[in-house]
Amino acid sequence: MHEFSIAHNIIEIVEDTARQNNLTHVEEVELDIGELSGIDIPALETALECLIPQSFIEGANFKINRIRGIARCRVCRQKYATDDLLSACPTCDNYGPEIISGKEMRVKSISAE
Ligand SMILES: [Zn+2]
Repeated sequence: MHEFSIAHNIIEIVEDTARQNNLTHVEEVELDIGELSGIDIPALETALECLIPQSFIEGANFKINRIRGIARCRVCRQKYATDDLLSACPTCDNYGPEIISGKEMRVKSISAE
């Protein structure tokens, strides 16, 4: 499953960061996940819940920030919210906008002792 490999990668990033900084107890990890990233957030949460207890960061909470999809029309420069990479501009109907936000998948912050 796609989300399991993403969860695995996220946990690896957090583990590496924790080891490099001598953090023994990771409390909270904040993630930014874009609505246009193709990641199913509930599936990612399930995958994290399954994988965390077997990892170095056992007991850590994950907080997922859902980043809205924002597109900008390449023709009229109108910005609009979208949940589709290939949406049409609401003003001029042009397809294939530039994506300004919503494709994120990153570890935003790690709280630890
Ligand atoms: Zn337009």
